[in-house]
Order: sequence, then C-alpha cells, then structure tokens
Amino acid sequence: MVAAKKRRKRARKEKVDLLIVNANELVTLSGDNQEPRTGKHMHNLGIIRRGGLAVKDGRIVAVGETSEIRKGFRAENVTSASGKIVMPGFVDPHTHLVFAGSREDEFQMRVEGASYMEILDAGGGILKTVRETRKAGVEKLLEMGFKTLDVMLEHGTTTVEAKSGYGLTVKDELKILRVTKRLNRLHAVDVVPTFLGAHAIPREYKGNPQGYVDLITEEMIPKVAERKLAEFCDVFCEKGIFSLGRTRRILVAGKSHNLKPKVHADEMSRLGGAELAADIGAVSAGHLLFSSDDGVKAMASKGVIAVLLPAAAFSLMTGRYAEARKMINLGVPVALGTDFNPSCWFESQQLVIAFACHFMRLTPAEAITAATINAAHAIGRAGEVGSLEVGKKADIIVLGVPNHKFLGYRFGVNLVDKVVKNGRIVVDREASQSGFFF
Ligand code: FE
Repeated sequence: MVAAKKRRKRARKEKVDLLIVNANELVTLSGDNQEPRTGKHMHNLGIIRRGGLAVKDGRIVAVGETSEIRKGFRAENVTSASGKIVMPGFVDPHTHLVFAGSREDEFQMRVEGASYMEILDAGGGILKTVRETRKAGVEKLLEMGFKTLDVMLEHGTTTVEAKSGYGLTVKDELKILRVTKRLNRLHAVDVVPTFLGAHAIPREYKGNPQGYVDLITEEMIPKVAERKLAEFCDVFCEKGIFSLGRTRRILVAGKSHNLKPKVHADEMSRLGGAELAADIGAVSAGHLLFSSDDGVKAMASKGVIAVLLPAAAFSLMTGRYAEARKMINLGVPVALGTDFNPSCWFESQQLVIAFACHFMRLTPAEAITAATINAAHAIGRAGEVGSLEVGKKADIIVLGVPNHKFLGYRFGVNLVDKVVKNGRIVVDREASQSGFFF
C-alpha cells in the first residue's frame, strides 16, 4: 500500500535532468531584466533561502524553495548545495581572448616604472603581441584560446565576449575572428565576438593613421560583416591611438554593417570617449578611468553600460580606478569584466569582483549584479543568461561559501565548487580538485 502510494506520488512529479537543492542562498537576480540594472536596483539579488532549481534540456524549468522544487520534480542527478550559494555563471563582457605569446618582460619594465604608452611607442605592448599573433597558426591560437576558456570556466565564467585586434591586417583579423567562432563551437563556454581592428595603428601605417582607418572602414568591416564573424565593433579611443573623429568614423561604418558599437574610452586620458559613446549610441563603453561628469551623465541618459575593468586599472599600477560610485549614483548601468589580455592576464571574475569592492567601493551585491545580468546586457545576451529564471540557459555555479557577501571578501582562491553549463555539470571541484567533464 505504502509503496504504491509512493509510486503514484513519484509519477506525478515531472522528471528532469538535474536538481540543485538546499542552497543556503540561491542568488537568482530575477525580476525585471528588460533593462540593465541601475542605482539601488543593483542591490536586488532576488535571494531565495534554502533555494533549489530544476533543469531540463539545458534550460531552467523551475526556481524556488527546495521544498517546492522537491514536490514538483524528480531527477536521477541531484546536487546538494547545503551551506553554499548557487548563482548564475559569470558573464565576462570584455576580453581579448585570442592572441599568441606573452609579455612578462614588459611587466617587469612597468614594475620598474615604464609607462604603457612608452612601451607601445618603442614597438612593444600591443604591437609585440601583433607580431606574435600574425606568425601563429590557427591551431596554436585555438589551443591557447581553449586553455584560457578552461581556466575561465573553472573560475565560474560561462559566457565571454572576445575581441579581435592582434592581427591588424585584413587576413589576420579574419583569422582571429574565425578562431573565435571555432572556440565558441568547440568549448563549453559561449563566446561572443567583437571586431577590434582599431586596437592600435600597425607598424606599416606608422605616420599614416588615416590610411589604416580607410582599411578598417572600407575592407575589414565589410568583410567581417559579410562573413558574420562579429556582433560588435570596438575602437581603442585614446590620445595617440584613435582620435575621437576617427573613432566615430569607424563606429559609424560598423553600424552601417549592423555591428553594434562599443568603445574603449578615457582609459589613460580625458579625451571625451564617454561623451562619444553616448552620442553614437554605443551599447557599452569600457575603462572610463578619466571620464568627465558630463560624459558620465550623457552615458546615463542614453543607457550606455559602463564596463568597468578594475583588474586592467590594477595592472596599469597608477592607483587610479573608474569612479564607480559616482556612475551608480548618476544612474549609469555598471558591468564588470576582466579585460583579459597579455598585459593584464586575469581570467577570474571572482578576482575582478574583489577589486571592484576594494578599489571602487562596489558592495558585493552590486559587483555580483555587474558581473552577471548587467554584463549579459553589455553583450546582448540578457535574454539567455545572467540570471536564474525559468526559460533561461542553465548556466549555474555553486560556490563554496555560505552567503554572497563572501564574494569580494574572500579572494585569491577559487571559490567554485561546481559549474553547470547548458544543464550539464562541466566542472566539479568537489569530486576532483581540477576535474573537467566534457
Ligand atoms: Fe580591452
């Protein structure tokens, strides 16, 4: 009798692929996610105590208290997150994923006092990586990009944006974007491509920046767009690199080919990149260390997302960071990214959150919002990822800490316990300290 009753009860429960239950805090970030979050809404994490969720066919099918989830669903694969937090996988909205070589010698020079621009003027910096990336074959770039994505995934990042920009010829920019596309197909992490041919003026155009801008607008952008190799077009708008006028020209050309504009703005000087980003209708602007109040207000009024990159500011060693508090107070939606690149070799959004809290005074809740749902908005993926809501991709991380305030507070170690990507457990550090299951 009892067994039959149990069977009937079981049959009424929907069978799913995976249940995660008993989370001390289930950080859902659910709510109105049509727009990126601003101001006090960045604090609203939608936390469910003793929360759980159900996953089927790679999607989230239920979110709620564990008792509710248990009543409605059953699965062979049940993960307990007792004493831990469960939250959306991190979204990294600003990386330079594909390149060859490394620049540890320049790191030492910078430690000894050389500036970024001095190194670039001497043919180093980006231009050194360009030389190495041009020489590298596709397989080499794939291998390196794949390894980087492994590390990112192990640290809880499930979606990344990846910019080109270490080729700076038609052939080499296309090569990098093709590698990016293949990485998206081959690796569990989703990779969103951005064309950044305007990353530096290559050697062969030294003294002729206009000629290089012509190459970008007349050849590179049409070819990238025609081959559907990028969704966004970005420019390194900086004194001595791409002026405001040239940045505008490139972004307008990109827009006319349906590449949505992004800008590297006001990183090393107050050039007016924030104002330009607002004026041109950029989706996001990155860095913003020197942006004016007017520029920040213009971004707020146009809803341009500030992608703040405190790890990049840290690597510049000037002690200056973007004024995140002011931006939040003025109503700018703030996102966080690593700016992973060979002069700023950081893969972990956990470390970025720690820097954002310590150097820019974001609260852990604001930083979590910035590294998940707002970051997803910055790369056009907020309908798919960045929060734990029914219908969204099951990109979920379990962190071995009792509440969300540990993010930023405990840092320098990997807090990830499990990573679920598209509904599958792809990292299980509890089962094996560095285990990957693809
Ligand atoms: Fe960058």
